[in-house]
Amino acid sequence: MGLADVQSDIDAACKTARRKSGSVTLVAVSKFQTIEKIEELLKEGQRVFGENRVQEAEEKYPALREKYPDIQLHFIGHLQTNKVRSAVALFDVIETVDRQELAEALAKEMDRQASFLPCFIQVNTGEEEQKGGVAPRDLPALYQACKGLKLNIAGLMCIPPADDIPDLHFALLAKLAGELGLKQLSMGMSADFQTAIKYGATHVRVGTALFGARQEAA
Ligand SMILES: *Cc1c(COP(=O)(O)O)cnc(C)c1O
Repeated sequence: MGLADVQSDIDAACKTARRKSGSVTLVAVSKFQTIEKIEELLKEGQRVFGENRVQEAEEKYPALREKYPDIQLHFIGHLQTNKVRSAVALFDVIETVDRQELAEALAKEMDRQASFLPCFIQVNTGEEEQKGGVAPRDLPALYQACKGLKLNIAGLMCIPPADDIPDLHFALLAKLAGELGLKQLSMGMSADFQTAIKYGATHVRVGTALFGARQEAA
């Protein structure tokens, strides 16, 4: 695959869904990828990237930002409250707000840094025990708590169970967002981003289809 192929698949999926091309933002997931590989994509024009670990992003992105100041970095992993200060300093969007304690820590830190980043609430649509995300039934309460904290909630994000057909999860996330009046949906990865676009994804998070296999650290 590669950037041109993924972009043309996104455009085709938009066309099929009768959506405007350009209504879907490609978040290039660069976890476990080298700076060299990331820079190849930057040279091709990609600017929105996703990382799931604060420390790894801190090792790679400050140098890249010096050359490409318009990089937009999305945090897409499990965020520990003790990493919130670094995360707010480095990232532009936090996609994984999934509990009140984290919402409170983020609100406090964004206030301190005067940096009111757009956030997504991560929903555990498959109700998997080991996975992050708020259970669908607990979403309204968490959303209200975030509003009370003046967090800038732009939309919802999900990672469907690996062995499920993703359609029902994407449809559920779109329904939940609609009920709360939220417009943005971060859903779909390398294997299923076209399906996600059919269900209204505004952000697709694509790693291996862009970069090839990850060099996962032991
Ligand atoms: C790794 C990851 C992705 C990208 O997965 P691919 O299958 O490589 O496209 C997307 N979203 C999240 C949250 C991830 O951790």
